[in-house]
Amino acid sequence: MVPTSHAEYPPDLSPEEEQYLLSNLKDWSIAHGLAVRPAPSFVSAAQDPSGVLATTAPVTLFPSLFPRTCFDEGLGIQTAYNELYSAIARDEAWLQSIIEGLVEIDDFTGKLWQTHLAVKKEGYVQDLSLGLFRSDYMVHIDPDSSHSSPRLKQVEFNTIASSFGGLSSRVSTLHKHLLAIDAYPASTATVIKADALRQSKSASSLAQGLAAAHKAYGLSRTQRPLCVLFVVQDPERNVFDQRHLEYALLEESGVRAFRLPFQQTLSHTSLEADRTLVYTPPNTPSISYEVTTIYFRAGYSPDDYPREEEWDARLHLERSRAIKCPSILTHLAGCKKVQQVLATPHSPHLKRFLPDERVASRILSTFAPIYPLDESEAGKQAKELAGDPTSAVRYVLKPQREGGGNNIYRRAIPPFLQSLPATHWPAYILMEMIEPPPLKNAILRNGELHKGGVIGELGVYGVCLWRNGSDGGGSGEILQNWEAGYLLRTKGDQSEEGGVAAGFGAVDSCCLV
Ligand code: ADP
Ligand code: MG
Ligand code: MG
Repeated sequence: MVPTSHAEYPPDLSPEEEQYLLSNLKDWSIAHGLAVRPAPSFVSAAQDPSGVLATTAPVTLFPSLFPRTCFDEGLGIQTAYNELYSAIARDEAWLQSIIEGLVEIDDFTGKLWQTHLAVKKEGYVQDLSLGLFRSDYMVHIDPDSSHSSPRLKQVEFNTIASSFGGLSSRVSTLHKHLLAIDAYPASTATVIKADALRQSKSASSLAQGLAAAHKAYGLSRTQRPLCVLFVVQDPERNVFDQRHLEYALLEESGVRAFRLPFQQTLSHTSLEADRTLVYTPPNTPSISYEVTTIYFRAGYSPDDYPREEEWDARLHLERSRAIKCPSILTHLAGCKKVQQVLATPHSPHLKRFLPDERVASRILSTFAPIYPLDESEAGKQAKELAGDPTSAVRYVLKPQREGGGNNIYRRAIPPFLQSLPATHWPAYILMEMIEPPPLKNAILRNGELHKGGVIGELGVYGVCLWRNGSDGGGSGEILQNWEAGYLLRTKGDQSEEGGVAAGFGAVDSCCLV
C-alpha cells in the first residue's frame, strides 16, 4: 500500500471501491435524514404529485482537508463574535448611523428599518433577543508570498436564518461512518489520522439555544401551552435541516415547535392586548399556543415579501412579546455594510463593542479588506479599483442581501456598475477575493458525481441570548453565549458562489491537517 499524501488526497477509487462508497453513502444519508426535497429540475411536480420524495443532500464523498490552526481559531473566537454582534444589535444609534445612507437607496433595508421604527414608536415589549449566528470563513493563502501560512478570513457574518446546522451534524457522522466501514482506502490512514475528523454538534447546540430562549421567556400569561414558532418559506427544499432542529428541541428539551409559512402569519397568529403572540395550528383550531420564540427561517429576502401583507406580517411578529430570533435590529446588524465598516482599518468601531484589545485584535485578524463605494477617500479608491477590468478581477461586489446568488464577481463588476445609477453604488460593498488553497474532492449532487478542484467555506455557529438595555444605547447584558458547532461547505473551484441550497455547493466535514 502506497500511503496517500496530502496532495494526492482523496485518492482515486477503483470502480468497485467507488460503488461500495456510494451505495453506503446514499443509504446512510436517507436512513439518517441527510436529505433535501428534490429540485423541480431533478424530480418534477408531475412525477411527485403528493410530495413524498426526498433525495440525498449534496455531500462530498470525503471529508475535506482543513488547517487545524484555522479551525481552532474560528471556533475559538465565536463567542467574541457573538458578543460583538449582540452589542451592535443593542446599539440602535450606532446602527442607524451606519445604515442611514442605505435606507434611502435600498428599498429592502429601508423597509426593515421602518418596521423597527414603527415598533419603537409604540414601544418594544420584549427585551430579550436570541441570535443563532453563523460566521463564514475561507482559508486564505497570500498569492504574493510563496511560503505564507494559511489564515482564516471572514466571508460574512449571518444573523438571520443561518442554515445547515441540522445537516452539518449528520455529514460529519456520515464521514466517520464511511471511515469505520472501510469505504476509504487504507492508504488514507496517513491523512485521516485518529483525531482528524471533527463532529459538528450544531443541530443539538442550536436547538439548545432555542430552548434557552423558550425558558427565559417565562410563564404563560394566557394559560395556554407554550411553543416555539419556526417561520418558514413555503415550499422549502431544505426542510429536513430545519426539522432536525425541531426534533432535537422536542427530544432534548421537551419544547414543542410548529412550522408556520411566513405568508400565513396573519391568518394563524394573533396578538393579545399585551401583545402576547398566540398561534392556532390549523389542525387543532380549538387548541392555541402562546409563542415564546419566533425562529425566522424566512423573511431575509425581498422575495419573501411579494405583497404589502408580508410587511404587515413582519411588523405584527416584531410587535409581539415573543422573543425574536433575530430581532429586526439583529437582522440589520448582519448586513454587509456593517461588516465593511467594522473592517475599516484603524476605525474606532471594533473597540467600541469589544473593549478588550486582545479579543478585538483576534477578530480584526479575520477581516479581509472591504471597501465602501461612497464619497469617502476609501470609497473613491474603491470605485477606481472596481471600474477597471484589470484590478476588478481581485474583487467581489456585494449588495445588502442574503441567501446566495446576489453577488457580482471579478470581470463582471465594471460593466455592472456602469449599468447602475451612481447614486446607488453606495448600496454595495467591494471585497477582496479570498484565495483558498487548491483542494480536490468529489461531490454527489442530484445523483451525479462531480470530481475535481474544490473550495471550502467554514461556517462557525454561535448562540447568544441577551437582554437589551432600556435606553437602546448599547446597555443590556448577555445571558447565554456559546460556540455551537461548525459547517463546512464545499463547491467546485469553477463556481464563484458557494450556496448549497442555491445549487452550487455540498455539505462537507473537516479532516484537520
Ligand atoms: P450570502 O449572504 O448571499 O451568502 P456571501 O457574502 O456569503 O453572501 O457570498 C456568497 C458566496 O460568494 C460565498 O459563499 C462565497 O462562496 C463567495 N464569496 C463571497 N465573498 C467572497 C470573498 N471575499 N472571497 C471569495 N469568495 C467569496
Ligand atoms: Mg449571508
Ligand atoms: Mg454566505
